[in-house]
Amino acid sequence: MKLVLLGPPGAGKGTLAAFLNKKLDIPHVSTGDMLREEMKNNTLLGQEVKHYVESGGLVPDQVVIKLIENKFSHDKAIDKGYMLDGFPRTKVQAKDLDILLNGLNKPVDYAVYLDASLPVIVERLTGRRICRHCSAIFHVKNNPPKKEGICNRCGGEIYQRPDDNEETIKTRMSVYLKNTKPVIDYYEAQGKLKKVDADRNSQEVQESLMKIVHSIGEHERGCC
Ligand code: ADP
Ligand code: ZN
Repeated sequence: MKLVLLGPPGAGKGTLAAFLNKKLDIPHVSTGDMLREEMKNNTLLGQEVKHYVESGGLVPDQVVIKLIENKFSHDKAIDKGYMLDGFPRTKVQAKDLDILLNGLNKPVDYAVYLDASLPVIVERLTGRRICRHCSAIFHVKNNPPKKEGICNRCGGEIYQRPDDNEETIKTRMSVYLKNTKPVIDYYEAQGKLKKVDADRNSQEVQESLMKIVHSIGEHERGCC
């Protein structure tokens, strides 16, 4: 199964990808997580991207495209399929991704568009907390960790992303509307877009996604 997850920040792409990864063992490829890892390890790349990420702007296309090219060319796990989260975020990235994936004979099956409204997004992002160690996602009200400040999954420290504050969320939303909305049209024009109402709770969103996953399975078996 080869999916791209699209939608505004806070739509639930990361949570949904983690669910699918656990259920079907499909690799979750998140450029946001990859960039945060580089920043945590204070690599040259991490230092280069820090100010873009922390201000809510976009990292230059060439930088993230290179990250994805490396991942797809070297990671054997991708043979099982992939769920891209946070990439592509611009039309340039979408076109380059198509070239890369066609070359590897692994074109995208569907782009799943998680459509969420502004008040829901702000509530989710301001309450979001992340594990520093394994990137598990929590929410202070909707999904608090069992023990405050500690990750349920790995015992790591839970923190709030510096870009999850109201000011930076506004910047990320306008960047999204300007740069990433056109990516949705790009996949629609290819007949690959599946829209899901992401204002609903995670379980309902997961059920919608599983229907899409099953339809891919049927398609691959040549049933309909
Ligand atoms: P969210 O989906 O909550 O906005 P992400 O974790 O996907 O957060 O991304 C965090 C930040 O990392 C973005 O605001 C941006 O600065 C940078 N980033 C991630 N993916 C990309 C990308 N494909 N192109 C450019 N910048 C990116
Ligand atoms: Zn953890």
